[in-house]
This record gives sequence, C-alpha cells and structure tokens, in this order.
Amino acid sequence: MITISNIWRSAPSNTVLILQARYKSKTHWAKLKKKNSPKYKALNHFDEFYGSVFGNKWVSMKEALLRRSKYVAVVNNYGDAEQTMEYLSNRGAHCLKNLMSIQKEFHNQYNPQTETPPTENTKQNNLDNYIAKLQSEEISSIYPQGEDVPDNIEYSDKQFLRNSIQKDAKEKQVRSTSLNQAIEEAQIDHSRIIEPSMGLTSEALYQYVPATKLKGLDEWVPESLHYSFMTNNVDFPLAIEPETTFSYPEHLKVMSYEMNSDYDRFPEPKRCNTGVFNYYPMDCGSVLSVLALCLSPGDRVLDLCSAPGGKALVALQTLLPDVLVCNDVSISRCNRMDRIFRDYLMDFETGNKWHERVLITRRDGRDFTDDHGFDKVLVDVPCTTDRHSVMEDENNIFRADRLKERLRIPELQSQLLLNALRVVKVGGAVVYSTCSLSPAQNDGVVHSALKMAFQSNGIIATIRDISAPFRALSSTLNLGSGVVKPKYGQLIVPDIAANFGPAYVSRLVRIK
Ligand code: SAM
Repeated sequence: MITISNIWRSAPSNTVLILQARYKSKTHWAKLKKKNSPKYKALNHFDEFYGSVFGNKWVSMKEALLRRSKYVAVVNNYGDAEQTMEYLSNRGAHCLKNLMSIQKEFHNQYNPQTETPPTENTKQNNLDNYIAKLQSEEISSIYPQGEDVPDNIEYSDKQFLRNSIQKDAKEKQVRSTSLNQAIEEAQIDHSRIIEPSMGLTSEALYQYVPATKLKGLDEWVPESLHYSFMTNNVDFPLAIEPETTFSYPEHLKVMSYEMNSDYDRFPEPKRCNTGVFNYYPMDCGSVLSVLALCLSPGDRVLDLCSAPGGKALVALQTLLPDVLVCNDVSISRCNRMDRIFRDYLMDFETGNKWHERVLITRRDGRDFTDDHGFDKVLVDVPCTTDRHSVMEDENNIFRADRLKERLRIPELQSQLLLNALRVVKVGGAVVYSTCSLSPAQNDGVVHSALKMAFQSNGIIATIRDISAPFRALSSTLNLGSGVVKPKYGQLIVPDIAANFGPAYVSRLVRIK
C-alpha cells in the first residue's frame, strides 16, 4: 500500500527540502503577484505621494477609499418622480435641495472667519520636498553610480521632458560619454531624417533630433514631471472671486442619506410606468460638478468628455439646457451613453423632446470646434480614478503597460481644459472636474490651462470659489479643509462617515 510514511522511508534524503522549497516558492509567487498587481502599485504610489502632501489626513482618506462607497439617487423627472421621491424618503433618504437650504439657514450664510485657513505654504513645501525626492531618484536611476550627471539636467518650469530633451539636443550639449559613444556606433534610422526638400520650416528642422538620441529616452517620462504642473509661478492674470449667483436648480431632485446614517443603501432602480428607470445612482461629487455649472434656462451646454453620460443626465434632469452636446472620444463609451439615455429619457407630449436637444458627438475634445460657442462647458477629464485604482485590477491605469499613458494624464487634461476655455463664450462658465485627489491633476492642471489659454489665445478666466454654497452640504459630505483644501476648486474627500468622492470641482468664468 502506498502511504505517506512509505514515501518518506523510500525517498532520497533531499526530498523534504524539495517539498519545502516548492511550498515556499508558492507563497513567494503569490506575494510577488500581489505586489505586482496594479491596485497594489496604485496604493503604494498614493501612500507615498498623498502621504507626503496630505500628511496624517491621508490615513483616514485611504481607509475610506478602501471601503464601500456611498451614492445618491438622482430621481428621474421622465418617470414617476413624485412617487419615487416618496418611496425613497420613506426609506430615510433626504432631498439634497432641502438639506442645502436648511443648512444654509442654520449657519445663516457663509462666514469666512469659520473657515480653516488653508496652509498653502506647508502644502507647497510638502510638494516641493516630494518632487525633489522623486527627481533625485530618477536621476540616479538613469545615471547610475560612477557616471557623471550632466549639469544641464533641470526640471523646473518645464512642462514636458521631451521638450527639454529636444532643447538640449538643439543646443548640441554633450550629455555623457557613453551615450555619445553609442550614437557614434548606432545605425542611422533613415526614415526619421527630415529632408529640406520636404518643405518644412527651419524651425521644424531645428526640432529634429537624431533617432538614436531619443531612442530609449523617448519612452522615458520621469514621474516628477507629473507634478511639474504644480508650479507656484503666476505669470498670467489670475483672480479668485467668491461665487455669488449660485442657486439650486428647481427641478433637480437628488435623494441622499446624511452622514453617519444607519441605513445608507438604496434599493435597485426600477422601471416606472413610463418605461424608464426611476432613479440614477451616482457619487454625490458628480452631482456637485453639474451644480457648479450654475445652469440657466436656455443654456447651450457642452459636455466635452461625456461618456457614459452620468453628469449629462443630471444636467438634463434640471430641465434647463436648451441644447446639450455630449462629446466623447470613445465609440464604445458613446454607445453606452446612448443606451443609458434611452433607459432614462423619453419625449414629453408637450414639446420637451430630448432627441431634439441632445446631440452625441465622437471627437477628440482637444480639437473640438464649434461656430456658435457654448454658455456652459463641463470638462470631466480622464484621470487616475483613485477609488477605482485601489479597488480594481481591471482597466487599471497603474498597469505597467499604461505607465506612459498615466504620466501624460496632466498634459491631456490641460489640453482638454484649454480647448473648453476656447469654445466657451465670453461670460460663459467652464467646470473642470476629476475623481482624483492629486494636486497635479487638479489645481496643477487649472493653473497650467489658464496660463496656456492666456499665452496662446489671450483668453482670461476668473476662478469662482463655490465653497460657500457647497458648505451647505456639510451634513452630507466632507469638503477638504486645511492642507487638503485646493486653491482653485473644491475637493470632496472620502470619509468613512460620508464615503463620497474623491471629486475635484473647479468653476471658471471666461471674462475675455
Ligand atoms: N462625464 C462622464 C460621466 O459623468 O459619466 C465620465 C467621463 S470619464 C471621467 C472621462 C471620459 O473622457 C471617458 O469617457 C473617456 O473616453 C473620455 N476621453 C478621454 N480622452 C478624451 C479626449 N481626448 N477627448 C474626449 N474625450 C476623452
């Protein structure tokens, strides 16, 4: 009979070791796999970056991010709205509009003296230290010990490393002996040589960099560049004014549970008698981006990165826009948006026909043009989607093969915001929003887009501080304060008691 003890007895003396080694290696692989998972990498990255910038406050934010998030119910005006409101309030939910007005009365309007003063210097110092640490790590990784670091390596006030590499090449500065040796020995890639006969300007010829010099470095985008958008230099007109014209849209019905409420889950949405769903579940931060648009009757609105259409749906539920253009570069996401609209919208018999007012377009938002101009533009950009990144491996921006894409996010975001500032009418408003805590993707992008808009198009926009009306929601959500409070917008911070966000919302009004 074959028994374990028989195997032991007949086995050579090193069997135990082999079995142990195999067992150990299994554990090791499992650990290694976990450590290489995108969500693990995301959490590590956030621990380092947000831990450096937000200090102790990051601990509770992280705890909330890793827990189940909350959502609100946007009641569908195209369904049995009154019935749905009653159904949800019987389950303990409150109407956001009532909560806002009660809270506003309670505090007898916004009082700036009660605000925690933002500690900008501390925050900037934390950021500067973090960037300096990253830069020194990056430099030592490309110039390992023993190699001379060229003096001309500098990061400050440069938007993209590629520019600095090209500039260096243009000035024919010698980087390192080993690199130049490699260039001497390398084969020339003739497909990348620019012939004068191609009709290019001397400027373009100047920009030419030998393929061999860029090879390798072309792929390399330093992490610290991600943060170069957070510069403090203000060399363009920049004004921050309190928003005084905010009013809650009369027809928008949003139901929410208050902070620390025992019961905070909504039942599944159901089909109404009209065939559409009774409510749309979403993060409260997303509702705030639409509120920040301060929509007015008859507005011509553009939602530049619209799919799958959650915020567009909220804008339509206000019944205010005359025209809503929903644009997104992704065909599959646009198709999803179309399906969502069909599930939630229907034509009223009395003339309110959504098909005539809602237009879905599939263009790159950086090149979107329009002859008439828009009264309001929402720019809800692609970002590091912090909550998703620490919770899900699928479609995670921290996947190794998406590194390049991730490091170029602030660049894409500022180009999208820049174009929004171009297509909005003078006097109109742009709302920029992300679902990230990253100061680089939030204030950093607003700063850089305002600068580019002024320098390239002479556009001036003021930042409208909308924190006063938003503070009327303090019984429902947590707005960043102190070191977490952004300069140019409002941040909905994940909190165990009010687990919404993260969501950053900045309201800009074009004045020139
Ligand atoms: N606003 C949407 C909502 O509320 O449902 C969510 C938008 S999501 C955060 C960002 C969107 O930007 C994605 O759907 C993505 O396809 C889109 N996007 C990415 N790059 C874009 C570009 N260059 N132009 C337009 N849209 C872009």
